[in-house]
Amino acid sequence: MLKQGQITETEITGYTADGQGVCRIDGCAVFVPGAIRGESCVIRVTHVGQHSAHGVIDALLRPSPHRTAAGCPYAEVCGGCQFWHMDYEEERSLKAQRVKDALERIGGVSLPALPILGAASVEGYRNKAQYPVQPQKGRPVAGFYRYHSHEVVPIDRCRIQDPVADAAKRLVVDWARECGVSAYDERTHTGLLRHIFVRKGFATGQVIVCIIVNGDSVPQREQLVRRLRDGIAGLTSVVLSINRKPGNVILGDEFRTIYGTDAIEDVLCGLRFRLSPRSFYQVNHDQAERLYERAIAAAELNGTQTVLDLYCGTGTITLALARHAKRAIGVELVPQAIKDAWENARRNGIENAEFFCADAGEAAIRLAQEGTRPEVIVVDPPRKGLSPDVIGAITQMAPERVVYVSCDPATLARDVKLLTARGYALQSAEAVDMFPRTAHVETVVLLSRK
Ligand code: SAH
Repeated sequence: MLKQGQITETEITGYTADGQGVCRIDGCAVFVPGAIRGESCVIRVTHVGQHSAHGVIDALLRPSPHRTAAGCPYAEVCGGCQFWHMDYEEERSLKAQRVKDALERIGGVSLPALPILGAASVEGYRNKAQYPVQPQKGRPVAGFYRYHSHEVVPIDRCRIQDPVADAAKRLVVDWARECGVSAYDERTHTGLLRHIFVRKGFATGQVIVCIIVNGDSVPQREQLVRRLRDGIAGLTSVVLSINRKPGNVILGDEFRTIYGTDAIEDVLCGLRFRLSPRSFYQVNHDQAERLYERAIAAAELNGTQTVLDLYCGTGTITLALARHAKRAIGVELVPQAIKDAWENARRNGIENAEFFCADAGEAAIRLAQEGTRPEVIVVDPPRKGLSPDVIGAITQMAPERVVYVSCDPATLARDVKLLTARGYALQSAEAVDMFPRTAHVETVVLLSRK
């Protein structure tokens, strides 16, 4: 029986879904953060649970050739990235393996190999940052939450963010300290400054800084705007977001523009998009273009078909598809995103796209009942995957092709199994690495009607 505190020499044989190394000790799987496949090490068991156990590396006997010097000083305390201790080759390979394993074990399909499209750059790729602010020793600090906690770790530089985000965060924190603006304390629900949100359009260079406050205004607001204007090239907007509710939701429902415009623009796949702080937008611009190119190629449109894009956000994929379709329909739950989607269609002169603000499942059932028969359905759901309603409506509409863009291999695999049981066959699957250095991975699969 495995015991807490036990020390054992062993080899790392694989990875968990969240990127920890896995070894087997006394027949039990032990998860070891920071361990790389193939490494021999001495493991100290720190916790024994019902189905798995956790351990740490006590001594590294034979390091992997993929091991690198820790690339980020915060890697051990910040929960954001998991892979700064290995090279990108190993990261790509473990991500491809994870998607392949999920599709085979849960999805019940067999694949010869699963390609992964790596990113050209593993640093500075994020176009959006949300820094929590907290009072520490009587003054505001901003950074990231310590792994599995709500304690803010102040940071200077996050290597996966565009430097402009860290610069804007620093300016806002300096302003708060010098102007006596209090930080929000979630335990007592007091204090003003909750989060600092920064988004940059990589193609346009436009930057929006959104200050989330537990109140309806900020003191010394001209000071704040002046500092940001002086310090941030490309600053187009400063917005206050009012969030007085306790809890973990970051953005409030009300936004007040205190400088410039209320949204920024970016260009993706040759289309211009309006992006308000609330709207979902892929965080890795260059990889999003690759991902969409793959989804569009898989759709095989020739200008005569109707395409339905479920979970369409601000209509990025819908509009890119509309250029190759007769009619494109986007469905999305967030009203602001749908407003942006209509505006984006207008800005790009696209007249064959329409958008509905609704739950994807409800909208799909209604469209199916109304007799809408799209030749192609594209889905890009959040991590929980497709609802049974969506699966049912897809079966009813019987499109020739389903293009599934997924951010969670496990729910993708579950849904692939459901669709293959309802007359579809998996044609291709490819992972796209949108989030280098983190354990997240995106996948595009094509299913066609048998
Ligand atoms: N395809 C878009 C957005 C993908 S993210 C893009 O690439 O930019 C998933 C989107 O699904 C989000 O915009 C989210 O608001 C939306 N969403 C979440 N649950 C939903 C539901 N039940 N019905 C419709 N849309 C939903």
